[in-house]
Amino acid sequence: MAKVLCDCGESLWNGEIPNQIEFHAFSDVQLIDMFNRLEKFEADQSNINDEYWRDRRDDILWPPINVWRCPKCKRLYAFEIDRDTASRKLKYIYKLEEQL
Ligand SMILES: [Zn+2]
Repeated sequence: MAKVLCDCGESLWNGEIPNQIEFHAFSDVQLIDMFNRLEKFEADQSNINDEYWRDRRDDILWPPINVWRCPKCKRLYAFEIDRDTASRKLKYIYKLEEQL
């Protein structure tokens, strides 16, 4: 769980699961790599156990980039995720230029 005070004054918190603030972002290469690993393991059913499913769940819940969107101003906060330490580091902040 973490908190961020948005530049607009809104308090962002990801402690509620699920929530409408947090997005799990993957590059196309990372997503295809995940699918390839799923196919590889599922081809050999003997590899599928509780640890296997925990790792696949963590693949989705702990992507390399985690994005939060402020519900008030739509500003995006992009965090780099360190899966080994289950920590995040704010890397970029994107401000909405115009709403279409
Ligand atoms: Zn905001």
